[in-house]
Order: sequence, then structure tokens, then C-alpha cells
Amino acid sequence: MILVSACLLGEACTYSGGDNFSSSLCAFLEDKKYITCCPEQLGGLPTPRPPAEIQDGDGTKVLSQAAHVQNCCGQDVTEAFLSGAYATLDICRQKDVDTAILKEGSPSCGVKRIYDGSFSRRKITGQGVTAALLAANGIYVYSSEDFADF
Ligand code: SF4
Repeated sequence: MILVSACLLGEACTYSGGDNFSSSLCAFLEDKKYITCCPEQLGGLPTPRPPAEIQDGDGTKVLSQAAHVQNCCGQDVTEAFLSGAYATLDICRQKDVDTAILKEGSPSCGVKRIYDGSFSRRKITGQGVTAALLAANGIYVYSSEDFADF
């Protein structure tokens, strides 16, 4: 079973209330079993919501409490991001998910890159909180930019 970031399949769950629909991913999944979820909504955050970025690190550091997630209003939203990540992991275990295709660049779903915490659109190497948690628990995580590689 494959887990897919919900916004990639057209769910309007991004921070701005939009989606990141990918017709090529949709076609790729046509003959495959998959489920979708949005970790940030699972963590209790509303849609739309202020954009958030990881401060001083990446998802792995957030998991070890060495970094935190803050929105552009200055609010610490680390708990919601962690809650959503662990809820996503629970779903993966319940549904026998072994592979995830996640939206690149997101502080939750980014697989190779995330924003650098400055809210200036600059990106750094690193994973989002959910991507890091799934990878640490043996789930293969693929970027929305190179999902066809698996
Ligand atoms: Fe998409 Fe993931 Fe952000 Fe939800 S948390 S909007 S699924 S990138």
C-alpha cells in the first residue's frame, strides 16, 4: 500500500487552502493501491493556516526536540506537526503502508528539501517532520518530484 500526500491528488489542504494536484502522479497510481492523508490537518491545524517552517534544523531534529516548527505569525506549532506525523505513522501501520509519495519542500512532507526557516522561500537539504518519521520507521519515502523511481 502506498501513502500519498493528499494535496498531490487534489485535496484542498495546503496552508493557503489550495492543492498541489499532479496529473502525472494520478496516472502513475491508476493501477496501484493507495491512500491519502494530510499530516498537518491530522495534527489539528486548520485550512487555511499561516505557513510554517522548521527553525534551526530539519524534521529529524524536530523528532529529537532539537528543532521546532514556527508559523509566520511567530507561533510554535511543533506539537501539531508531531501529532500529525505520529497519526500518519499510525495510519501507515494500520493499512500496511510500505511506501510513501510525499510533497517535496513541505515542512511535514518534504523528502529531500525543506524551507530554511526564514520565510524567504530559500530551501535547504533535509526532510519534513512526517517524512523523517516514516523513513525512520522503515517506510520508503519518495519525493513528489521523482516518484517514478521506485
Ligand atoms: Fe500536502 Fe503534506 Fe502539506 Fe498536507 S502537510 S498540505 S499533504 S504537503
